[in-house]
Amino acid sequence: MIFQLPALPYANDALAPAISAETIAYHYGKHHKTYVENLNKLVAGTPLADENTLEAVVKKAPQGPVFNNAAQVWNHTFYWNSLKPKGGGEPKGKLAEAIAKDFGSFAKFKEDFAAKAVGNFGSGWTWLVLRDGKLAVENTSNAATPLTTGAVPLLTCDVWEHAYYVDYRNARAKYVEGFWTIVDWEFAAKNLEAAAVKK
Ligand code: MN
Repeated sequence: MIFQLPALPYANDALAPAISAETIAYHYGKHHKTYVENLNKLVAGTPLADENTLEAVVKKAPQGPVFNNAAQVWNHTFYWNSLKPKGGGEPKGKLAEAIAKDFGSFAKFKEDFAAKAVGNFGSGWTWLVLRDGKLAVENTSNAATPLTTGAVPLLTCDVWEHAYYVDYRNARAKYVEGFWTIVDWEFAAKNLEAAAVKK
């Protein structure tokens, strides 16, 4: 299959001021796009080119350039879907109940997630996942993704410098503060619901 850059689910300037149009122009328009282009070049003529889904390539590719580019395409698409203009607030329904049960409270969850995001050393991702029936916050490095470690990703925050350096320079904590104003809790809730149905 030929991998495509999925359309951004909102306009470049729609996440401002948390994330500027300039950041989106580079992060989506250049970084994400380049991962897609590299992936297509790398899998051409290999058995992975016959896979029907990007997820399958992420799960089957050995560590190295194909995995890195495939996982980065998947992670970025998941990240854009984790955000929405005028998002934020608090989750509702089953997700809210699960957060209260597994973290103690929404405030405790936010504290845990922010601490892990700010403390994720180097380039990587911070995730809310469902692992073994419980919600957890997990960090991954570089392109690594919960897809290959048996967890169900519900929400992610990209903490590579390219995600925030234009807007916040080195202040990753400020970027994470902004993240809370554009989180799409409905996306996370849908992912939790889908995981429950699959079980
Ligand atoms: Mn990124």
